[in-house]
Amino acid sequence: MSLISQNLQAIHQRIERAVTAAGRAPGSVQLLAVSKTFDAAAVADAVAQGQTAFGENYVQETLDKIATLAASGAPALEWHFIGPLQSNKTRQIAEHVDWVHSVERLKIAQRLSDQRPPQLPPLNICLQVNISGEASKSGTTVQDMPALAAAVAALPRLRLRGLMAIPAPGADVQQQRAAFAQVRVLFENLRAQGLALDTLSMGMSDDLEAAIAEGATIVRIGSAIFGARTYPSPTKEST
Ligand SMILES: *Cc1c(COP(=O)(O)O)cnc(C)c1O
Repeated sequence: MSLISQNLQAIHQRIERAVTAAGRAPGSVQLLAVSKTFDAAAVADAVAQGQTAFGENYVQETLDKIATLAASGAPALEWHFIGPLQSNKTRQIAEHVDWVHSVERLKIAQRLSDQRPPQLPPLNICLQVNISGEASKSGTTVQDMPALAAAVAALPRLRLRGLMAIPAPGADVQQQRAAFAQVRVLFENLRAQGLALDTLSMGMSDDLEAAIAEGATIVRIGSAIFGARTYPSPTKEST
């Protein structure tokens, strides 16, 4: 059994335990395997274990990997772009992925909506929120989120699904939960505002338990599946 398949089994067990501990329904948390910096063979290994949803951070790497996997005859995969997105790269993303988790400005959302090809379903969108103490500088503030969410929800070729956050790493579980709870409260406020949101994208290799306890519906797991990365960290704003 490959290391990736062992790691995937262990992650599924961690997710199940956390879901049970939180008293949530089995299957209520989706595993997004974050394959950035790992090659198409690593993705194919995970696909062979039944993994179908993959997250990527860098535009060119995303496009290359999607093409390689498609050419290899892999089953249909779900691709999520989770990295910083500049306006000159929105078209390629709009044409090739199923989800973008890292939208933080209306201009980017408008471009994605305009550029989403008509034959594809609407692009699924999460808005990235920058909660206090967040390691990354990315994301919209809590204060600005209601207006951004309302504007993005009105765009025709997007489907606004929810929020994404990357809280500061390294904190203890109580601190992690406090950060994720802020995201959940914002999410609930947006729903109360009338937005039909169903997705909380939060939790990574080191804090997925805290995220699931606070209502995560997608956890984004990289190093605990594929191993340590040898180049850019998720908080570096490089593409
Ligand atoms: C790299 C990355 C992840 C995965 O992080 P790990 O700690 O390796 O699980 C998740 N989310 C985002 C936005 C990332 O950039």
